[in-house]
Amino acid sequence: MRFYIETFGCQMNKLDSEVLSGLLEGAGLSPSDSPEDADVVLVNTCSVREHAEQRVLERLRRLARWKRERPGRILGVVGCMAQRMGWELLTDVPHLDLVAGPDSYNKLPDVLERRDLPVALVEQDGELYEGVEPRREGGVRAWVAIMRGCDNFCSYCIVPYVRGRERSRPHRSVVAEVEELARESYKDVTLLGQNVNSYCDGEVDFAGLLRLVDRAGVPRVRFLTSHPKDLSEEVLRAMAECPSLCEHLHLPIQSGSDRVLQLMRRSYTVERYIRIVEEARGLILDISITTDILVGFPGETEEDFERTLEVIRYVQFDDAYMYRYSPRPGTLAAQFPDDVPEEEKLRRLDEVIRLQREITWRVNERLVGSEVEVLIEAPAKRDGMLGRTRTDKPVVVRGEGLKVGDFVKVRVTGTTGPTLLGGETALP
Ligand code: SF4
Repeated sequence: MRFYIETFGCQMNKLDSEVLSGLLEGAGLSPSDSPEDADVVLVNTCSVREHAEQRVLERLRRLARWKRERPGRILGVVGCMAQRMGWELLTDVPHLDLVAGPDSYNKLPDVLERRDLPVALVEQDGELYEGVEPRREGGVRAWVAIMRGCDNFCSYCIVPYVRGRERSRPHRSVVAEVEELARESYKDVTLLGQNVNSYCDGEVDFAGLLRLVDRAGVPRVRFLTSHPKDLSEEVLRAMAECPSLCEHLHLPIQSGSDRVLQLMRRSYTVERYIRIVEEARGLILDISITTDILVGFPGETEEDFERTLEVIRYVQFDDAYMYRYSPRPGTLAAQFPDDVPEEEKLRRLDEVIRLQREITWRVNERLVGSEVEVLIEAPAKRDGMLGRTRTDKPVVVRGEGLKVGDFVKVRVTGTTGPTLLGGETALP
């Protein structure tokens, strides 16, 4: 039996697809390069925004023909949308055979073998997938889950409901996995969790884990995602002192209005957020700071929105993921009146995107003429190779004989906005 996994959504979903591939291969199934050659197609889904779910439904509609073409093919939905909708999704999409939430992947090999279909696997039992080897590709960058689930219940967010309560992997197992990646010559590892700053396995906290992972032998280590309420000075000190920890912090602010932050149940103020940014910039030379911004939250007034623009101007983020609010059934905010009209949400989104683009351009333009260390990751779309700085900025590099996995010193010659352009100066 051959399987194919399509992934929507965040980095945690991409890692889950690698875990699922590892599980299915371990059970004797073979991966396929395209749905056409596959007997099983699994769509790994995201529920964070309504738009993400609409895209999945559209993809499932198009897969109806794939299903009809050959009897016996199996179509499944896994991930957050599967967990949120369960049997309802099987009823809404009649050609669907199975749904499985993020805690149920261990059961899939057995279900596929017995063809016990249709089935909805949505039990939540605190699964950590210890001992499952993700099927990674590329050999340069790897993602390692250090924890799963979330206890924060931000009022707009579906994640704690679909991914369950927060639990941390034992630090020894995380460190052993990163050491193994170092032996396999991986160059860049990202530690993943919904709120990595609250990592604690009972013995070691997140700052302690960072110091242990620093000694595991991978040249670059990063982490995602941080929460301003839990980001401690010890974590920033570890970033400043550990050579492998990259100078990049993704720290979602969501809104520049304390009133909206309170409605979002984010548990920090703008003042606290700015204090962290200043501390980080004071401790870590040339750190890049990126963020998430959500506009059009219920009750967000023009004045609240202006505060968000002000904080973007003040902090000068290197880049940002920007979204407009959509209610997620089952969350607290879904009970609030969704009172910012759609065209107003779009206007606000457009405005933050325009502002952030200008800032990103200016911040990156200041790097022209400087020398940065770039890890080469892939051929660029047109000429040259595509790599990344320690600060997580993409760079198109021109140079002779560059290979994926090389570290090169690059002179920045220009920018297209988010992407730097440059030429190789010398091997470090
Ligand atoms: S910290 Fe908040 S936004 Fe992030 S996953 Fe948890 S509930 Fe969602």
